[in-house]
Amino acid sequence: MSHIDCAVRGCNYNIFNKPRGVTFHPCPIRSDMRNKWLQILKTKCTVLDWNRSRICSKHFETKCFNIKGKLKDDAVPTLFSSAAHKHPVKQTQETSTSSRTTVDRVLNKLTQAELMSDIKNTLSKMKEPSNLETYMNDDYRCKPDTPTEAQLWILIKKQDHLNTRLMELVVQNKKHVELLQKNLEEARSSKKETEQSIETYKYIVKCLQEKLATLEEQIEILTTVESRKKKRLY
Ligand SMILES: [Zn+2]
Repeated sequence: MSHIDCAVRGCNYNIFNKPRGVTFHPCPIRSDMRNKWLQILKTKCTVLDWNRSRICSKHFETKCFNIKGKLKDDAVPTLFSSAAHKHPVKQTQETSTSSRTTVDRVLNKLTQAELMSDIKNTLSKMKEPSNLETYMNDDYRCKPDTPTEAQLWILIKKQDHLNTRLMELVVQNKKHVELLQKNLEEARSSKKETEQSIETYKYIVKCLQEKLATLEEQIEILTTVESRKKKRLY
């Protein structure tokens, strides 16, 4: 038989230390009752394994049990006097849980950059193994039989190297973008110049067309005059 203890946070009853009369109850199978239990227990248990977790009878009102002491089908746990029977072991677990949520909270607040500098800061305080290079190939690969600690340090080194490379690429990319922008501006100004010269050419064409018209008129007059002269000659 596996070790049975109460899943409620702060309650430390198990089959070995429970007072007489305290019983352990599995989570209900009926889905409507499951939902009711879940709503209550999600804030009361650190871990709740639906198939294995047990809730001790201390969390149920007396009316939840029938005469034979069996838990009724519609019973839900409602009693959670946290100070009632605390145990130092569980307190440690609670502390680790709350510190874990603190870490989560802090992590959510930090930006990527802050996180990286924080990690670097922490790393600088840790002592790097002196013989790290002996375990490492040129491309930051671990040689066989590298101790775990050295493997982790090599991973950190690789990450750092990749970060540096990434930053270099970002800077390069930025330069490219700047160059492209400059080219674009130049293209724009040359386009403007072209537009201006097109206007000038249009004007010149217009002038030439006018001149051509005048010339055509003159040719017509001259042709008329010529033909009259010819008529007169005959
Ligand atoms: Zn309990």
